[in-house]
Amino acid sequence: MILILFGAPGCGKGTQALRLVEELGLVQLSSGEMLRSAIAAGSELGLRAKEIMDRGDLMSDEIIVGMVSERLDSPDCANGVILDGFPRTVAQARALDDMLHARGAAIDHVIEIKVDENALFARIETRAAESSARRSDDNADTLRKRLAVYHENTAPLLPYYETQGLLRSVDGMAPVEDVASHVAEIVG
Ligand code: AMP
Repeated sequence: MILILFGAPGCGKGTQALRLVEELGLVQLSSGEMLRSAIAAGSELGLRAKEIMDRGDLMSDEIIVGMVSERLDSPDCANGVILDGFPRTVAQARALDDMLHARGAAIDHVIEIKVDENALFARIETRAAESSARRSDDNADTLRKRLAVYHENTAPLLPYYETQGLLRSVDGMAPVEDVASHVAEIVG
């Protein structure tokens, strides 16, 4: 199964992805986590990523697509993946369609987790307090930038997937358990 979890930064994609990993045995493929690993490893990619992520900007499509494509070829991804944070641009979505097509696979569901953006600020501040050592991009200034980037570059993916009949939406303001059961219902 190929599942895309979609939504504004702080909508709870990561939390829902982890639940699906536990419940369905799928592999979570998070482009943000891959970049954070590169930062932790101190690689050249990591150095570049840190600067861009701290600004709230997006990494180049080419780098991200190469990274995800390589990861999709790992044997643990053979049974399916949950894509979390990818694709984030229409160019990435097109590249994903091509890479899946080349592997004889296709997207099963795109699930949008809808949230109230004012509530996101409260949420991100809580997350910043809990994980300041782990994520230097979790603060109100960067979130504002990330939301603007989301509207400009990522939100156009909604009509992209809607016209393909793949898009489903869940209320991300509901309690985590309710969001999880709604997602589970869609995934079937
Ligand atoms: P995330 O953990 O998904 O919120 O991603 C954190 C940051 O990593 C983003 O704000 C971007 O700077 C970068 N990033 C993650 N995924 C992508 C992507 N698919 N395309 C471009 N940049 C990304």
